Amino acid sequence: MFIMKFGGSSVADATRIRSVADIVISRSEKEGIAPVVVVSAMKGVTDTLIAAAKAAESGNSSYMSSIIELKQKHHEALKALVDDNSIGVTLLIEIDTILEELGEILHGVELVRECSPRTNDLISGFGERLCSLLLAAHITGRGVRAEAVDARQIIRTDNEHGRAAVDFETTGELVRTRLTADGPIYVVTGFIASTAGGVATTLGRNGSDYTASILGAALNAEAVEIWTDVDGVLTADPRVVPDAWVIKEISFQEAMELSFFGAEVIHPYTLVPVIEKDLPVYIKNTLNPTTPGTRIAKTAAPKNRAITGIASIDDVSMITIEGGGMVGMPGVASKIFSSVARTGANIIMFTQASSEHSISLVCRREEAFKATEGLKKDLTEAISSRMIRSINLTDGLEIVAVIGENMKGQVGLSGKLFSALGNANVNILAIAQGSTELNISFVIESKCKSTAINAIHKAFIG
Ligand code: ADP
Ligand code: ASP
Ligand code: MG
Repeated sequence: MFIMKFGGSSVADATRIRSVADIVISRSEKEGIAPVVVVSAMKGVTDTLIAAAKAAESGNSSYMSSIIELKQKHHEALKALVDDNSIGVTLLIEIDTILEELGEILHGVELVRECSPRTNDLISGFGERLCSLLLAAHITGRGVRAEAVDARQIIRTDNEHGRAAVDFETTGELVRTRLTADGPIYVVTGFIASTAGGVATTLGRNGSDYTASILGAALNAEAVEIWTDVDGVLTADPRVVPDAWVIKEISFQEAMELSFFGAEVIHPYTLVPVIEKDLPVYIKNTLNPTTPGTRIAKTAAPKNRAITGIASIDDVSMITIEGGGMVGMPGVASKIFSSVARTGANIIMFTQASSEHSISLVCRREEAFKATEGLKKDLTEAISSRMIRSINLTDGLEIVAVIGENMKGQVGLSGKLFSALGNANVNILAIAQGSTELNISFVIESKCKSTAINAIHKAFIG
């Protein structure tokens, strides 16, 4: 078996969905087996759903126009993709029933003026349900057996809404029972899952990639293909570096580092289930299906450059804790980490000056304020006894990470890297190097992002 995942831009409208069906059907014929297809919501739909939930929560009835907009979008696609026969009529009723259900939930949110993370998960997954029905019906209409599958039946998670953790054992059993090798082309909803009690959860924004690899691992698939709108994993985000080019082969470790540091071409967890099983992942372009794309696997052909790729995370903030009293004081870092963890904030990067005089933490902006407040509260004693002099928060920052297996043991690389940035007039606020020497990450002001990334790309990648 093999898995083919199509993202939001690949299913943006009827024309694109038709091209997806072309790719799926021709591959299926060529391989002689039906692939398991995973789909995201049509482009923009998840954003619309989340905005509608927010509007309803604040008592703004604009959510009703969002429902009308979604209805129009899916009706239009249905009209173009499915003939007006019994399949089309049944699907029209199904789409309307799903959107009525959405309307009732949003009305409930408006009445109680509250949208819990649990309700938000339920609402944000509607797009995948609608899209999988459309694609399955279209493929069926072309005379090829296909069936839409709601992933809530087969992917089991805990109840950490918004970023639920997968129970791989139960999921494996459910997947293998439901998706049989001699079956039709299954068109599975990405992104959504459910708890053992049947409550809807999601795997986090951009999570359909993860759905594909969870299914790939559960089915021991030959390969997982992530079909998107670029030719593969590029040396940098093409929106920042127009000269970025496709990396033909990349190792699991390098690709994982790139995705953790913001290369959204794959969701950061995607490679976790496949590494264990050693399943290759291919990144392919729906708009350009004949290009080979990128192969992500255990080993990749050696590269003749130190840096494989560059990634970056926007809109981060740095919390700097300073004070001479921290010098030699055991347990300070652990106190800081547990204080931040209690606020639910995630530390993306951490640096400590060698004098132990200051510690800097970098978090996403939306989490940094509560983390700072938590630290101020938990470290009150240390602050009043002057062991800690200040806790400062700086917004408007960017983390840039350079990644590459060839960086290991390369003497002088950091020097060259930071002089390239110096020559471009980029000021560096903090630096961290992973102990595996697979990445060097640093913090700069957001306004320097493009200058910094382009300067490194030019100096090291070309
Ligand atoms: P999908 O809708 O298919 O899930 P995404 O928008 O989530 O697609 O991811 C694809 C996008 O990721 C590309 O259009 C590109 O702009 C962006 N991107 C960022 N960094 C990289 C990178 N290093 N390589 C490729 N694409 C990248
Ligand atoms: N539709 C979801 C999102 O926009 C999941 C995905 O596209 O991967 O986040
Ligand atoms: Mg995506």
